[in-house]
Amino acid sequence: MSKYADVIVDISHEKVDRPFEYIIPAHLEEQIHCGSQVFVPFGRGNKQISGFVIGMKEQADFAKEQLKSILSVVEKSTSADGDMIALAYYIKTNYGSTMNQALKTVLPVKKSADPVQEKYISLTADERTLQEAIEKYSKDKRSVAKLRLLQELEKESILPYEIVRDKLNIARPTLSALEKEQLIRIDIKENLRDAFHMKDKQEYTITLNPEQKRIAEDIWNRYQNGDLRPSLIRGVTGSGKTEIYIDIIDKVIKEKKQAIVLIPEIALTFQTVLRFYKKFGERISVIHSKLTQAQKHDQLEKAKRGQVDIIIGPRSALFSPFPNLGVIIIDEEHEGTYKNENVPRYISREVAIERARLSRGFVVLGSATPSVESFYKAEQGEYQLYNLEHRATGASLPDVQIVDLRDELNAGNRSMVSRKLDELILDRLEKKEQIILFINRRGYSSFVSCRNCGTAIKCPHCDVSLKYHRNGKLMCHYCGYETSMVKTCPSCGSKYIGTFGTGTQKVEEEINKRYPQAVTLRMDADTTKKKQGHEEILSAFANQEADILIGTQMIVKGHDFPNVTLVGILAADLSLYNSDYMAAERTFQLLTQAAGRAGRGAKKGEVIIQTYSPENYAVRLGAEQNYKEFYKYELSYRKLLGYPPVINMLGILFACENETHLTQKCNEINLLIERRIRAKEAARAAQNKIQKIGPSEDVIAKINDKYRKMIYLKAEDYSDLTDIKDTIETYMEENPDKQISITFDFSMMGNRKG
Ligand code: ADP
Ligand code: ZN
Ligand code: ZN
Repeated sequence: MSKYADVIVDISHEKVDRPFEYIIPAHLEEQIHCGSQVFVPFGRGNKQISGFVIGMKEQADFAKEQLKSILSVVEKSTSADGDMIALAYYIKTNYGSTMNQALKTVLPVKKSADPVQEKYISLTADERTLQEAIEKYSKDKRSVAKLRLLQELEKESILPYEIVRDKLNIARPTLSALEKEQLIRIDIKENLRDAFHMKDKQEYTITLNPEQKRIAEDIWNRYQNGDLRPSLIRGVTGSGKTEIYIDIIDKVIKEKKQAIVLIPEIALTFQTVLRFYKKFGERISVIHSKLTQAQKHDQLEKAKRGQVDIIIGPRSALFSPFPNLGVIIIDEEHEGTYKNENVPRYISREVAIERARLSRGFVVLGSATPSVESFYKAEQGEYQLYNLEHRATGASLPDVQIVDLRDELNAGNRSMVSRKLDELILDRLEKKEQIILFINRRGYSSFVSCRNCGTAIKCPHCDVSLKYHRNGKLMCHYCGYETSMVKTCPSCGSKYIGTFGTGTQKVEEEINKRYPQAVTLRMDADTTKKKQGHEEILSAFANQEADILIGTQMIVKGHDFPNVTLVGILAADLSLYNSDYMAAERTFQLLTQAAGRAGRGAKKGEVIIQTYSPENYAVRLGAEQNYKEFYKYELSYRKLLGYPPVINMLGILFACENETHLTQKCNEINLLIERRIRAKEAARAAQNKIQKIGPSEDVIAKINDKYRKMIYLKAEDYSDLTDIKDTIETYMEENPDKQISITFDFSMMGNRKG
């Protein structure tokens, strides 16, 4: 029984103050747990103030005589703070971080600055007035700035103020002058939400079909009956999952509870948000990465004050401080972005389940291609599974054909477009239907290497090859290092040095050359960097301003283009050759999701998958969109080799600038782990073995001048892993070492960039 509690007495949000130790009096033992709000005496005058319990222990760090006792438990804490603190404790315990880091993840950072207002410059002049002004200013040498801005606005009638100021170098007086002439207007836009004010608010008219209705009702009934197990909806792309979410949220809100909807950032499109907005209007708040910290904080404050009922956003929306949370929905639950890449490396799905448990709400997961892990849990009965087999609009799933690229080579076709794909592209261009070409890489092309000696040009700070970009620069995608393209091989001096592989820029060039009649748009990490970048590209494509959209995986997410009848996947293999155990799963997901983009409208769609390994099960079953069969294969493979979800896995990453010190420390911790494993195994029966792999070099042995080593642990019992993590954390607290950083990774999703 814990006798002492760490209590945080002031959540200033600026920084979380250090906790104070208090005695838990015997009569309160039963009621106090992590996250409890309590009254404690504080300071010289023993003023009674409230605080939150963030930790419990049997031994006190301070002398017992110095400690005061907790006075009482706050009966009904109305704020969401208690839940959030308990959640922080859960994150700290399960993923490895300090309580402080966990609290900072969970509590919104308060910025004292006023919310930053986003400003936009838009064109108000009509076409003729604009042309006259351009004509006039092009004759006047002192008006180059005015001319520059007008020419930009001619192309893009609305521009963010920062771009105008920083990229076009237009000063304020110039703007004022143009505004006075009534050529432009300066607008303030609070956030995405306000953009909808300009739209007409329409009535929401969709009625669920029987299949959708059955699922929505069952989920709701289970909740009413106290079955709080998470639900997993597996429904083919376009089967109407989003409508089910909307229906459930509606029910939740009618009970005066609130909802959180997680969507991968990239799928957080205007289209999706608009559907929610049409139904729920002003009661929605959208969080996205383009908001400033202050704006984000504002949105979360609204949640706390009960001014909104629904928050939609990427994983950080999980921490919306709703006082009475009813449901958390995670759309596209298989997405890698739901894992936090920074410490604490929490997994959104698990944290969502804990958050829902704390507030007695429930979780709904949805995907066309659930993660093997979630589907496994559904099979085990931990989640309730629902299937949606048909598209809601009655549209049929597209025809998918696999093209073996080896046959193309044999037939003398060295281009990246196979004969079959070429035929279909020409057909669609003729019919004025749209095409999506998908490639799993960004950049002009990939790495640069010497054809004479084979040397690849590497980043001097990281153990990865540099990527060539069209601006003639070589770039490191890990640390941002940039240098000019080399002319000769640094190793042998040969001039035969060049790029290999295919990137989106290169594809776009070839497509433009091959189909000069077609208008193309490209969407990848480079073209979407600016504010609203992917919105603009997607809406241009949706408005049929282009025939062909070329892009990386970001184009396969949740978008609905009714006029797209052909999807070409140029090289389906690329994602197969990643070194981690999830490569096949990710390939299958990409192919299924990409194929799902075709034929969303009335016309039937066709999909061409080009590959060098047509016999691979991920490619073959992805083409068939056969999730169940894929899952069966994949699970037997994981069983055979001992990978999650059949077994639990923990990766421990050690990083240090000094290689010798790294090796030393790694060995030290390795011994510690081995001792702990032996002790645990001795203490019980021989089953539940813990397996250790390493220490060994990480897949990438150096990033940002820091050398990296890994130790992997596999265990049947999850608590064995957290126990070893705790052992290491305690050891590092007792033997601090500033040089080395140790990071725990419990999910081993392995979604590395590159
Ligand atoms: P998912 O989320 O599974 O991809 P959506 O909910 O986006 O599917 O639905 C796909 C399309 O079908 C959308 O355009 C949606 O408006 C439409 N739709 C979904 N359910 C219905 C329904 N019951 N009646 C009419 N249209 C529907
Ligand atoms: Zn060389
Ligand atoms: Zn680098």
